[in-house]
Amino acid sequence: MDMIQIKHEIEALADAHKEEFEAVSAFIFDHPELGCEEKLGQDALCNLLEKHGFAVQRGYGSLDTAFVAEYNSGKPGMTFAFMCEYDALPQIGHACGHNLIGTSGAGAGVVLKQIMEKYEIGGTLKIMGCPAEEILVGKVTMLKEGAFDGIDMAIVMHPSDESMADDIAFAAVNKIYRFKGKPAHTAACPWMGASAGSAVQIMMHAVDAMRVHFKDYSRVHGIVLDGGMAVNIIPEHASCKFNMRALDAEYLEKEIISVVDRCAKGAAMCAGVELEIEQEGNLIKDVRNDRRLVASVAANMDFIGEHHIPRTLDQGIGSTDVGNVTHALPAAQFYIGLGAGVGTHTAAFADVAGGPEGKRALNAAIKVLAMTGLDMLTAE
Ligand SMILES: [Zn+2]
Ligand SMILES: [Zn+2]
Repeated sequence: MDMIQIKHEIEALADAHKEEFEAVSAFIFDHPELGCEEKLGQDALCNLLEKHGFAVQRGYGSLDTAFVAEYNSGKPGMTFAFMCEYDALPQIGHACGHNLIGTSGAGAGVVLKQIMEKYEIGGTLKIMGCPAEEILVGKVTMLKEGAFDGIDMAIVMHPSDESMADDIAFAAVNKIYRFKGKPAHTAACPWMGASAGSAVQIMMHAVDAMRVHFKDYSRVHGIVLDGGMAVNIIPEHASCKFNMRALDAEYLEKEIISVVDRCAKGAAMCAGVELEIEQEGNLIKDVRNDRRLVASVAANMDFIGEHHIPRTLDQGIGSTDVGNVTHALPAAQFYIGLGAGVGTHTAAFADVAGGPEGKRALNAAIKVLAMTGLDMLTAE
């Protein structure tokens, strides 16, 4: 097989379907939907995949707006997956550019399927419709419910300012600490009370005293959710919430979370109150990209002439549920740049994700995704 020739065919196919893919991306952009409500986005992507001969299952497990689309060549080979996201943010719509993520995953599937058929390449292609990334729900739930079972490799593109073949993201978790004390009149008989509010204050200070021991790039930030009802009542209830992040999930779990929990327990003991600890949502793992995928993405960016830069810690890092996928199977997230000098989760980013920069990135992403899938499906 002449890989260079086939990759030129992938470019030609991505260009030939350009208007069709752009229409899907524009439709999702024009109909922003929040996580777990992205029915129109799901429909647009499923319709595209069905039209191009994929077997599409709408909804997966407990997630109504997930989907799994499959093309099985009937010949032996690996199962390779493109991941899609298509949820938006409140008020600022597609300010994370998920219209481009969803359409690039589905578009790469449409292109690569045609190449697999023409060149009789064995294996199975799956397009994973992963909802609710912004609220860090979709992929973790799909992993738990078995959607990724049997998938050998998975990849996703995220738009950014610059193109990067690799990624770094924090492991992250939110925890709520609820203290319960004993109410009393603060002037008449304060000795009768036990203050849940004092426990919250002590916990905040304890965490600040401990954070000097955390490894670099640990992030621990807390807010007071409930500090009591009135200044003349010893607070019976008080609570705070902490967001904790670290560069690897093991350190987050073994060290950061246990230290912050310990600060809460110590504060409760000191104030003589009871403590209830609740984890809010999923524990998100750091992104651990598969090196074969990163190397292939970088080579394919070079092939199409896409300028790319290294991913570094000082570019600013967040968290994504893609991380959990990269811990469960060989997987990767990479970036295609919109090149407008604006950061995600801003109205300015939405403007470029829905504009000509977005169209250019979509086309480049589909080419890089399809070529990387080809590399993996045909690897010895
Ligand atoms: Zn986002
Ligand atoms: Zn995003």
